Amino acid sequence: MEKTQNLPELNVGVVGHIDHGKTTLLSKLTGKFTDTHSEELRRGITIKLGYAETIIYNNDGEYNNKSIGKPVRYVSFVDAPGHEMLMATMLSGAAVIDAAILVIAANEGIKPQTQEHLMALQAKNIKNIIVVQNKIDLVSKEQALKNYKEIKDFLKGTIAENAPVIPVSAQQEINLEKIFQELALIEIPKRDLNSEPFFLVARSFDINRPGSKIQDLKGGVLGGILKRGILRIGDEIEIKPGISTKKHQEVLYKTLKTKILSLHKGNQSVKEITPGASISIETSLDPFLTKADSLTGCVVSLIGKLPEIKYNIKLKTKLFGEVFGLGIKRKVEPFKSKEFLMLSINTTITVGTIEKISENHVELSLNIPIVALPGDNAGVARNIDGHWRLIGWGKVIG
Ligand code: GDP
Ligand code: MG
Repeated sequence: MEKTQNLPELNVGVVGHIDHGKTTLLSKLTGKFTDTHSEELRRGITIKLGYAETIIYNNDGEYNNKSIGKPVRYVSFVDAPGHEMLMATMLSGAAVIDAAILVIAANEGIKPQTQEHLMALQAKNIKNIIVVQNKIDLVSKEQALKNYKEIKDFLKGTIAENAPVIPVSAQQEINLEKIFQELALIEIPKRDLNSEPFFLVARSFDINRPGSKIQDLKGGVLGGILKRGILRIGDEIEIKPGISTKKHQEVLYKTLKTKILSLHKGNQSVKEITPGASISIETSLDPFLTKADSLTGCVVSLIGKLPEIKYNIKLKTKLFGEVFGLGIKRKVEPFKSKEFLMLSINTTITVGTIEKISENHVELSLNIPIVALPGDNAGVARNIDGHWRLIGWGKVIG
C-alpha cells in the first residue's frame, strides 16, 4: 500500500442553500454522514459544523477515493449549515477553509443563501471554489442546461467567476470523480511553518463515555485548524480568551494552560501538526472544561506566545452594495454610531458597539473579547429584521 501520511492537505468548506444536498454530497465524498446530532436528525437539517475527510487517489488521471492508484491528497471538509438563521456558524466554518464547494440544486437554482454564502466566501477571500450543480437526476436535460447558464450568469463578476461548474447527482453518485479531480488540482496555499503556532478552536468536546473509569479518562479535546507554525505532542500550550467567570456583574477571562497529550488528523494519530487539515488536540485539561464547545472561538499557541485579549477593536472595512440572503434587493445602509454589530474573526463570533466611525474605519467595544492579530479578516454582520446578515468585511488594524 502506498503511504498516505504526509500527503498535501487541503481543508474545504461545503456551502450553499439549505436542502441543496451539501450533507448528502459530503457523505458520498467521504463515506461519513455528518448530521449526527439528535436535533439534526429530528429536523433533517445541519445545525452544527460537520467534519469528515477523505484521501484522493489518482489512477492514471482518474481520481477517486477508493484507494485505486496513487494517493495524492488528504482533504478534510467542513459541512456548513445552509439555514439563514445559522449564518454565524457558517462564517466561523469559513474562517478555517482553504477552498469551498458551493452546492446549487439544479431544480431550485440560485436561492438567498446561495448568494449569501458566496458573498461570505468573497468576504473571507476564499478564491478556490468548485461549484456543484446538484440533483441533476431531478431535471430534464433542457432544464439542466438552462440552470447551468443561470449559474454561470450568477457567478459573473464574483470571486467564483472562473470556478468550474460540475453537474452532479450526489444521491445517484453521478460525476463525483470530477469533483475529486478538481479537489486534487487546487493549488495548496503556501503554509507558514516558521511563525509561532496559532491554532483556531472551532469546537471542543469531552470524548469520554458516561461511566468511564477514572484511569481510562481522556483529556479535554480541541478541534480546529492550525493557521501557522507547528504543534507537537508534549508542547505546553495556552488557550485564550479561555474560560469566563462572573464576579460582581463583571465577566473575567482566565487563560488556560495545558499540555498536548495526543494529536489526531481524522482517524490517524500523528506526532506533530502543520497547517492544512482539521485536527483534534487531546490536552491534559479536565474534559469538563472543554465539553459542549465551551472553548469554541479560542486560540492556542505555546505558552507566552499569544497576544493580549482585546475588548476594543479597530477595523478597516468595506461594505457590500446590497444585503444578500433576503431574497429581495435592499441597499446596505452606512454604519451608525452606537450601532450593534456581529463580527466573525477567525473562529470567534463576537458582538460589539460602534464607538467611532471614520472613512473606511470603525472602532468597536466588544461584549465578548477576542484574540486577533493585525491583518486578520473580519466578517461584519448587522441585525436586519431579527436576522444577522453579512453586510461587509474588514481587516483588523488595531
Ligand atoms: P443540505 O441541507 O444542503 O445539507 O441538504 P441534504 O444533503 O440534507 O439533502 C436535502 C435533501 O435532498 C435530502 O432529502 C437528500 O436525500 C436530497 N438530495 C441530495 N442530493 C440529491 C440528489 O443529487 N438528487 C436527489 N434527487 N436528491 C438529493
Ligand atoms: Mg446539511
